[in-house]
This record gives sequence, structure tokens and C-alpha cells, in this order.
Amino acid sequence: MKGRIHSLQSLGAADGPGLRYIVFMQGCPYRCVYCHNPDTWATDTGEEYTADAIIERVMRCKTYFGKDGGVTVSGGEPLLQAAFVRELFTELHERGTHCVLDSSLMMDGEDARALISEADMILADVKFTDDERVQTLCGGSLAALERNLELAARNEIPVVTRTVIVPGLNDSDTELEGLAAFTKRYPNIVKCELLPFRKFCIEKYRMAGILFPLEQTPEADKAAVKAMEIRLSELRKNI
Ligand code: SF4
Repeated sequence: MKGRIHSLQSLGAADGPGLRYIVFMQGCPYRCVYCHNPDTWATDTGEEYTADAIIERVMRCKTYFGKDGGVTVSGGEPLLQAAFVRELFTELHERGTHCVLDSSLMMDGEDARALISEADMILADVKFTDDERVQTLCGGSLAALERNLELAARNEIPVVTRTVIVPGLNDSDTELEGLAAFTKRYPNIVKCELLPFRKFCIEKYRMAGILFPLEQTPEADKAAVKAMEIRLSELRKNI
């Protein structure tokens, strides 16, 4: 089996514990209004790799992983090629490598469930906590995210949630309280990260001839988002 890959990064420190080899899968069926990687959307671009070809590259870096590091598969949306990523995780586990899945978790199906169950840790992009905005601003399904978070909870897989904070869209106290209540439903959520909305992607949209829906929206203030993250942690403790 081959997987369609957008890019490979030898050692990343921002997507899971320790130093990690990052595999960015090509293809995403969603259209989040703030997406900074529109170049990962198409399902017919990128480069095809077998799991073995990726593992060979990973093993060259293994010495840098230490006790915490490993491999993170991100995207695009990795659940779109769930059977391939599961094969990759299975073979990495045979080599004692820690595997993180970075996904929106908005996709159902047997392969998706099997992959989620195989992960050692999940970075879950919680876009919004109401189905209407998940549908209209991302084209996804909150119900599928909820089912997949429940599956991860049943399997006791640690989950770190990530939410992009967009000024005027989800930066209010009410939004934060909603996110605290939503994430508190799942006992395996170990941390909730908030990421400031950025517009470094504008050039990618222009080059692709795609309209960036938030071109006129201001970027989020990094310090303000950090303060929101601390407040979110306090809110979660008090529920
Ligand atoms: S799921 Fe990720 S890659 Fe896909 S549109 Fe949303 S932000 Fe972009």
C-alpha cells in the first residue's frame, strides 16, 4: 500500500512530546476558514511513499528521539488515508517507536476507528464546539469528532486538543466556557492548547488562486491567547 505524502520533516518539536519525525499527509476534505495549509487539500498531488520507505527515513533519525520523541502523522487530514497510516503505525510500533496522530477527528469509518485506536497520543483539532459552525466554517461534523473522542477515551489514549483562536469568531468568554465544558467531557484530554490565528498563509492562497475567507480578519494577539489558555485551564479545573 502507498500513501500520498505532502512533505516530511526530519525533526520537529511542536507536534507532540520530544523530538519527532513529522509526516504531513496530502489531502483534506474540509475547508476550515482559517486553514493555513491549503496546499494540503488536493488529493491528487504530493508524492507516493510506501510505509517501508518512510520507516527507513524515520530510523535514520531515531537516535534523536530520546525517551519521549517518535513520529507524528499530521496533514492535511490523516484519517483520509487511515489504512495507510495505520499500517505505518503498526510497523513503527514493532520498532518501539511512539506514534502521535494529529487530526481533526471529524471522519467516521472502520479504518479511521482502527487508526485512532492504534495511536499512542492524539493531537485533536477542536475547531468549534457547536455543530452549526463546524459545518459552516469547516465543512465537518461535530458528531464524528465526539464519537472519535469517546473512542479515544475508551482506549485511554491521551489527547491534547488544539483550537485556533480567531478574533471576533471564538475569542469570547462564552466561547472559552463552552470549550472548557466540551473538553471536560473526556477524561483522557490531558491538555487544551489555544493557537493564535495567523495569516502567513495568504501568499499560498493567492498562488493557488483560492479566496482566503479571513483575509480582512486581524491576527490574534499571542499574549492574549496565552492568557486565554491559562483561563481555559482554570475553567476546566473548576468544572
Ligand atoms: S482540517 Fe486542517 S488541513 Fe483540513 S482544512 Fe481544516 S485546518 Fe486545513
